[in-house]
Amino acid sequence: MAWEFSTDPEFQKQLDWVEEFCREEVEPLDYVFPYAVRSKDPKIKALVKGLQDQIKDHGLWAIFLDEDLGGPGYGQLKLGLLNEVLGRYGSAPAMFGAAAPDTGNMEMLAAYGTDEQKARWLTPMLNQDLWSAYSMTEPQGGSDPNLFRTYATRDGDEWVINGEKWFTSAGRVADILFVMCTNGMFVVPRDTPGVEIQPEPRTHNHIIYNEVRVPLDHLLGPEDGAKVLAQRRLGGGRIHHAMRTIAQCKLAFDMMCERALSRESHGKIIGEHQMVQEKIADSYAAIRMLRLFVLETAWKIDNTSTQETRTDIAAVKYTMAKVLREVSFNALHILGSLGTTNLTPIQAMYAAAPTMGIADGVDEVHKATVARNVLKSYRPHEGYWPTEYIPAKREAAWQKFQPTFDADPDLLALAEGYKKYFANRH
Ligand SMILES: Cc1cc2nc3c(=O)[nH]c(=O)nc-3n(C[C@H](O)[C@H](O)[C@H](O)COP(=O)(O)OP(=O)(O)OC[C@H]3O[C@@H](n4cnc5c(N)ncnc54)[C@H](O)[C@@H]3O)c2cc1C
Repeated sequence: MAWEFSTDPEFQKQLDWVEEFCREEVEPLDYVFPYAVRSKDPKIKALVKGLQDQIKDHGLWAIFLDEDLGGPGYGQLKLGLLNEVLGRYGSAPAMFGAAAPDTGNMEMLAAYGTDEQKARWLTPMLNQDLWSAYSMTEPQGGSDPNLFRTYATRDGDEWVINGEKWFTSAGRVADILFVMCTNGMFVVPRDTPGVEIQPEPRTHNHIIYNEVRVPLDHLLGPEDGAKVLAQRRLGGGRIHHAMRTIAQCKLAFDMMCERALSRESHGKIIGEHQMVQEKIADSYAAIRMLRLFVLETAWKIDNTSTQETRTDIAAVKYTMAKVLREVSFNALHILGSLGTTNLTPIQAMYAAAPTMGIADGVDEVHKATVARNVLKSYRPHEGYWPTEYIPAKREAAWQKFQPTFDADPDLLALAEGYKKYFANRH
């Protein structure tokens, strides 16, 4: 019997340390110096380094990378448990060297980069001396990669990239951009002439690549391999988002429950009103289901591969978005007017929840993938009736028993008695 839902006690110690460290060190730093990890100020850098040295001492740096790719090799299940803690604290993933979009880009580099490319980009990225962004979506359409047009032309010992990208997160502040072209994935330093970052939107950037020249060795992986690299990147990214989403849901749930016990209305603590209880009960069950689904999917990745787990990864992706929408709504509602302000994290969480149904692929596309893949293991029934059509099953059962009845007429009489009794009941 191999089902096992408990956490190895040694690893639980790590998780407990991470929880305390995030609560006592990472969160307070973030309230005083937001985005400290990205700061260039030597004093703030020293504060960050002090914390990151402790993380490294605990073997928790770059936790998303497999051993053969240069990380601690925790695998997805342990990573899931860690992200369940980190996801509660906005700045924790970056503090632990495990924040998107860099993680996915590092995974691509680790898996497809040459030794020289790894030395040039991966090592400094791992040390947070270099920050990256991922430029895939285009203004004319994001859900369908067949609509992408950005293209690299070879010219002597250079590639010349032309195209337009939309919603490149943190593109403006990245040192290097991973640019998905129709004929390959390219690494482009942001200060390369021709990289034109548009003024809006501010956080997720609109970038025009206008005759951008990079050396030949800036092609990552094989020529024409961009879609394979993108799948590798996004597969991991989606499950990591889901793990952090559990943490967000739990945070919303904790706030909801605390408030439900703290407020009074119409002669009762609000947690004693049934409609409040329903929100708590539904949220509880939704989070438990999401968590089991995410962890089981992580376990499957560890025991097979991302590719073989793609149906569940896609299902996790839209399920987490749905659960976050529901739970953050319930929490906001139970917090009442306070929930609508920016004085707690709940309003931002609820406002951001629909985003989870769009980033990393819209829900509809993932649902279509799941339905298509699931249907591959089914066949249409023959004739008019489904396999579970009861009269046909009953008929087949009688045929199966015929030799037994031939040998024992008493049994036949009994069976006919049953048949008559149940026929009369309808
Ligand atoms: C917070 C955030 C961060 C992001 N970061 C990055 C990034 O760093 N780099 C990057 O390249 N991109 C990034 N994106 C972009 C993201 O990948 C796209 O938004 C996504 O792929 C959807 O593309 P779109 O926005 O063009 O929507 P569209 O493709 O225009 O889709 C709009 C709507 O049309 C419907 N629709 C589309 N296709 C189908 C279908 N097949 N079946 C049914 N309905 C459909 C859905 O209702 C969908 O929501 C980010 C997005 C968000 C929200």
